[in-house]
Amino acid sequence: MGKEFQYDVLIIGSGAAGLGLALQLPGEQRIAVLSKANLTSGSTYQAQGGIAAVLDNTDTPQAHIDDTITAGVNLSRPEAVSFTVEQGKNSIDWLIDQGVPFTQHDGEYHLTKEGGHSHRRIIHSADATGQAIQQTLIQRAQESNNIDLFEDCIAVDLITRRKLNLANNACIGAYVLNNKTEKVDVFKARAVVLATGGASKAYLYTSNSDGASGDGIAIAWRAGCRVSNLEFNQFHPTCLYHPQAKSFLITEAVRGEGGKLLLPDGKRFMDKFDPAVNLPPGYRRQSHRP
Ligand SMILES: Cc1cc2nc3c(=O)[nH]c(=O)nc-3n(C[C@H](O)[C@H](O)[C@H](O)COP(=O)(O)OP(=O)(O)OC[C@H]3O[C@@H](n4cnc5c(N)ncnc54)[C@H](O)[C@@H]3O)c2cc1C
Repeated sequence: MGKEFQYDVLIIGSGAAGLGLALQLPGEQRIAVLSKANLTSGSTYQAQGGIAAVLDNTDTPQAHIDDTITAGVNLSRPEAVSFTVEQGKNSIDWLIDQGVPFTQHDGEYHLTKEGGHSHRRIIHSADATGQAIQQTLIQRAQESNNIDLFEDCIAVDLITRRKLNLANNACIGAYVLNNKTEKVDVFKARAVVLATGGASKAYLYTSNSDGASGDGIAIAWRAGCRVSNLEFNQFHPTCLYHPQAKSFLITEAVRGEGGKLLLPDGKRFMDKFDPAVNLPPGYRRQSHRP
């Protein structure tokens, strides 16, 4: 057995979600943030095009909500869409306060356009937005007195009171494999947050990082949590493919700025998602309990 740690909050994941939360919790909370590889190994560092938010006077939250519902072919949960859109500007302001160097033009933040958006609303840092965000948040976390960052630490399972045969089930920590010492450490915490990113690495061809293997979803499921919408995965239609090298994304901004996907004979494809053709008859969103 490895070491034992005690924190107020254990955050599993060091991407925008994990570090964003760590930096917004009260400074008196002792916080541990884990990354299964190095701190930049998640999807956040790879994001390119930018972040959508209503930042221009000619744009409105309702237009952003409508675009999102349309792009989600009416399958999105409306209250989740509204909440996300309405928090957009505040979240961008917070990132600016942290020091993220978003690209400016004539003294204003430059907004670009991406597929599905009726307005220019993508704030970006050149074409490496995620890298700029990840590096800034890591720097802020390293400067803080209450956040400890752990690399090469893979959460394996949550520790629950039920697993220890105790009454009043609750999550009280996690078992964590330290890849350097090859020992399993115990992280105890009053609150545990799963911010482990996506599961797209379940597919052979993906623009996601190798670490996007859905660990948090599996960990949550094993602890008895309900999981939902697992059938939704984003696939970028513009990747540079090479049979011997790892594929990588060609930015979505290419299509937002007017680029079209053409077959060798010049015929356009993937210009429209048609629910009647692309979804099984009677399709509804689902969630599952273990
Ligand atoms: C190529 C690419 C381009 C993208 N471009 C854009 C874009 O332009 N605009 C946009 O809005 N979005 C974009 N996205 C999506 C966006 O990057 C993600 O939605 C977002 O970064 C997810 O952040 P996150 O913190 O949830 O996850 P991640 O950044 O993936 O972080 C997950 C963290 O969890 C850790 N972790 C995972 N499992 C474990 C475990 N078992 N134990 C310990 N730690 C674990 C990882 O080490 C990592 O630190 C893009 C994604 C990709 C892959």
